[in-house]
Amino acid sequence: MKSKYFKIHELVPKKMYDRYGQKAWRYVDVRLIESIDKLKEHFNLGTMTINNYFWGGDREWSGIRTPESKYYSYGSQHSYANAIDAVFSHYNAEEIRNYIIDNKDLFPYIKGIELAEWLHIDVRNEDELVIFDTKGKVYDKNRIPTKS
Ligand SMILES: [Zn+2]
Repeated sequence: MKSKYFKIHELVPKKMYDRYGQKAWRYVDVRLIESIDKLKEHFNLGTMTINNYFWGGDREWSGIRTPESKYYSYGSQHSYANAIDAVFSHYNAEEIRNYIIDNKDLFPYIKGIELAEWLHIDVRNEDELVIFDTKGKVYDKNRIPTKS
């Protein structure tokens, strides 16, 4: 399965794209592909950027992360092709997170959300959605700290 809206280089690092090209889709979890396509359809104004190195941007590790990345961590869902980090030109991450949390039925595979400046979602194997901050602290969905 391929994404309807994203190219494979938006989800894998350059070395993987150079080596496997379109075949690199085999490494991306189908639940993640379904989830990002649904997000793109719901938040369809402006851009939703994951990796952009292909077009000269500086984002290379926002999808699959390999040990070559300085952001690599053994326990990260990015290390297992289960996660993306995205930035939107027209929306802030908080409003998208809140929408996902309030509409879990629309995003049945999203089981991890990180509270960060960007949108991190992952399709980890959990029964319930886990909301955590950049230090790994877990939050109840009704007690998420807000910035404002
Ligand atoms: Zn992330």
